[in-house]
Amino acid sequence: MRRIEQALPREECLAILRHSTAGVLAVLGEGAYPYAVPLSFVYQEDKLYFHCARAGHKLDALRSSSRVSFCIIDQDQPVPEEYTTYYRSVIVFGQAEIISDPEEQKTALLLLAEKYCPEDSPAHREEKSTGTDSYTAVIRLTVEHITGKEGTALAAQRKGVKKT
Ligand SMILES: Cc1cc2nc3c(=O)[nH]c(=O)nc-3n(C[C@H](O)[C@H](O)[C@H](O)COP(=O)(O)OP(=O)(O)OC[C@H]3O[C@@H](n4cnc5c(N)ncnc54)[C@H](O)[C@@H]3O)c2cc1C
Repeated sequence: MRRIEQALPREECLAILRHSTAGVLAVLGEGAYPYAVPLSFVYQEDKLYFHCARAGHKLDALRSSSRVSFCIIDQDQPVPEEYTTYYRSVIVFGQAEIISDPEEQKTALLLLAEKYCPEDSPAHREEKSTGTDSYTAVIRLTVEHITGKEGTALAAQRKGVKKT
């Protein structure tokens, strides 16, 4: 990263991956157009999981190239008087695959259900995550590299330095 003083520590990047509820998955789409599509996700142990229908633009793209990135905006606070925005974001790079094992798919769907429906009963989450492979696909993104960056004012606050 060019402005290394604005880099987020790895632990902060992981915290953002745990608490954020959406990001934008970038794939190499048809005709070499990048395709960036917003998705819900869950992070666990250097993997991100996404669920979707079994057909569509992003799955076609993934079948031709597994290399992806996933960007999350954690904070975006415009500060007009400073002509800036107080931002914080994370980008994950890695390889994405459509899960073929129904048991692994179920485990990933349960993780998504625990994250997005924490008040639901375990029995209902189990029911919603079972036997879905005829109509739901689950994508596993194996993380290779993570970067996080925040605006100069937030970076200065983190270091306890007043921005001039
Ligand atoms: C915050 C958020 C969370 C989401 N979470 C999920 C999720 O967890 N699972 C899921 O399957 N979908 C989710 N969606 C919807 C998702 O963005 C896609 O619309 C969906 O996954 C279909 O993608 P596809 O590539 O199969 O599109 P296709 O159905 O193949 O789309 C055809 C075309 O429609 C356009 N298009 C598709 N999606 C969008 C979009 N979101 N905005 C603008 N144009 C679009 C593109 O031009 C694309 O080429 C979410 C959307 C948002 C905003």
